[in-house]
Amino acid sequence: MALDPPTMLAISTALAAAAALYLAIEWRSIREPSLLFWSAGFATITVGSTLALLRMSGLLLIGIWFANGLLVVAHWFFLLGVARFTQKRLSRAWYLIFVSWLALLLLPDEPSWSKIMLVANSLLVALLSLRASFLLRPHGKSLSVGAVQLRYVMLVHGLFYVIKALTAVVPGTLIDLASLRGEIIQISLVEGVMAIMLIALSMTGTERYQREKRISRLAERDPLTALYNRRALEVRAPRLLAQVSTVRPGALLLIDIDNFKLVNDLYGHTAGDRLLVALSEMIRSLLPEDSLAARLGGDEFVILLSHASSERVVELGNTLRDQFHTTASQAFATPEAVTLSIGANLYDHPPASLAALIEQGDAALYESKRGGRDSMRLVDRTLARQEPLQAG
Ligand code: GH3
Ligand code: MG
Repeated sequence: MALDPPTMLAISTALAAAAALYLAIEWRSIREPSLLFWSAGFATITVGSTLALLRMSGLLLIGIWFANGLLVVAHWFFLLGVARFTQKRLSRAWYLIFVSWLALLLLPDEPSWSKIMLVANSLLVALLSLRASFLLRPHGKSLSVGAVQLRYVMLVHGLFYVIKALTAVVPGTLIDLASLRGEIIQISLVEGVMAIMLIALSMTGTERYQREKRISRLAERDPLTALYNRRALEVRAPRLLAQVSTVRPGALLLIDIDNFKLVNDLYGHTAGDRLLVALSEMIRSLLPEDSLAARLGGDEFVILLSHASSERVVELGNTLRDQFHTTASQAFATPEAVTLSIGANLYDHPPASLAALIEQGDAALYESKRGGRDSMRLVDRTLARQEPLQAG
């Protein structure tokens, strides 16, 4: 099969159209604006490479100037999509690219016309691609595999266009844009087909990873309070529990709101929700580093500490109880006080399982409720002390 320019352009058109369609369908399901920009970029290439065929029929303005201009526009869309994806702003100076392209219309019809056109086109495409690649460099946070691929594909694509511009200025190079003759033009057509495939593939990979991250985040968080849910706690707790030793005791605090139903009954479910959110924010703000907090369900929360002592547990529990009591009593007048009961365990050897630990916490919480609520029951299971403590 002869890879003549019209065939290559037809392949580019078909691939770009497929990529535009694919990215648009992806956008319909995840509504990420960058996908729409990228889809628009490939749609522009589809139109551009179709129009490029017209140069063979002598329509040079549309077939060369306009078609190549669309290639610049397409890369502009790619850059806009990357800027959107990386949440960076582009300076207005980038719009000068279009002015410079318009200025080429004033170019006199002389023998070097093709070369100047090719150099200008290549440099603009290179500039846009390299800028996109630069925006995708990691900024402290890790990039997805797709984004890293896109970064390097845009880098290589940009460098290819720099080389293309350089070869055009080498004296004696044959460049005939009207009939698509000249080695660099032929190579460029092949590169174009490869670039379309690689860019489109890495663009979809980029967004997929973001979506998966968002889904896994949703799956591990309690929707009301955004704290971890029980499932996420089960996944994350083992690492923390394995670190427990006699020099590094761990602790579990099981927290349940006292008389919470009164808030729901007297002030409505939404008011109850607000109080749950307020408690979760208190927990989050008091949570030491290297510890975990989760909402187990209803009005029950759990905190896992990795560097604990009975003093730290008592201090954390009492601060939480005081803050909660103040907030709840200011917001809601109830016949019985809306307070916190806490059941806590201190241990210096890894427990059999998280479930076993929660069960022990439950027993301590039950004791605290039975003792009249608004209190913390701490069971110290470290070797240093095996006695239950009543705090608060
Ligand atoms: P106790 O002092 O014995 O803990 O009693 P309580 O009134 O706090 O009630 P209990 O802990 O037995 O039950 C928790 C209640 O929390 C039951 C349910 O109506 C309510 N609840 C559970 N989930 C939610 C929620 O997401 N939002 C609101 N507003 N209420 C909830
Ligand atoms: Mg309760």
